[in-house]
Amino acid sequence: MMFGSNTLGNGWVVPADDAAITAATQLLMAGQLVAIPTETVYGLAADAQNAEAVARIYAAKGRPDFNPLIVHVRDQKAAEKLGVFNATAQALAEAFWPGPLTLVLPLQPDAPIARSVTAGLPTIAIRCPAHPLMQALLLKSGLSLAAPSANPSGSISPTRADHVLKGLGGAVPMILDGGSCSAGLESTIVAVRDDGWQILRPGPVTSEDIENVIGYAPLAATNGLIEAPGQMASHYAPSKPVRLNVIASEPDVYLIGFGAIAGDDNLSATGDLAQAAAHLFEALHTADASAAVAIAVAPIPHEGIGIAINDRLARAAVR
Ligand code: AMP
Ligand code: MG
Repeated sequence: MMFGSNTLGNGWVVPADDAAITAATQLLMAGQLVAIPTETVYGLAADAQNAEAVARIYAAKGRPDFNPLIVHVRDQKAAEKLGVFNATAQALAEAFWPGPLTLVLPLQPDAPIARSVTAGLPTIAIRCPAHPLMQALLLKSGLSLAAPSANPSGSISPTRADHVLKGLGGAVPMILDGGSCSAGLESTIVAVRDDGWQILRPGPVTSEDIENVIGYAPLAATNGLIEAPGQMASHYAPSKPVRLNVIASEPDVYLIGFGAIAGDDNLSATGDLAQAAAHLFEALHTADASAAVAIAVAPIPHEGIGIAINDRLARAAVR
């Protein structure tokens, strides 16, 4: 692994001190990419207003251009320049921002955003992240930052700087190392509509958390309509076959355990789902790099953040 403060060479993992934050701010303001930790996963950030910078994200990830990006903002005031907030959106932002919740809102007609960010949709996905490093960059640069997960499209999301280096090393001028991500799963995505709300991607903020704030249940799923274009069946996929709900180890299979099912690694020996979420992608990265021919995962309770864990595992298992 390469360490250092050189911001010109590619693939540099840089400890996130003040000098590195200043250098990262300059890169972002110049339309370059920087990989940045957030509380969910590492993001690959670029100036959301700069079409060339946004194009660099799609190119570095090999991401299909119909898959829109989440825009990260400093606060709700900045978000209101991009999306139209109704009372539901207001309540959700007040309750969960800064934090791991993304709101899909009607796009403001004059939003200062490159069209490619929303892939031409009349809506925009916005999040106000809590991580102090991402907050520092938003504040220092004054930019809104488009930032999908910092991994090649379709592969396992990164929760550590070395995961980013392994997946995208040569394609990113700078990787800010802020340690492991605390939540470890991508943000919950909620579509806010005139007549209610809907979860487009389960995540660290659960459906119950949201219902407790809004006071009523989500709208029924829209049949046959792909609302979140990036939510492909196969995603987060390791290079090896993944089997789910496995309760016993087999030769040549790397077993990721949970609770009493020990395995080669264990997402949480005490059966703590938040701990399991934080460890999930790291466990998949390690399993993928092992000598085993396949990966097996113990059953995860389908409740709370376990729903988001099972969503990611189901996509990891589709090849
Ligand atoms: P990522 O940035 O990789 O975490 O993925 C962001 C995801 O947000 C995309 O794959 C879409 O599923 C979703 N998304 C972004 N913008 C919109 C939008 N305007 N409407 C619905 N979903 C969106
Ligand atoms: Mg992603």
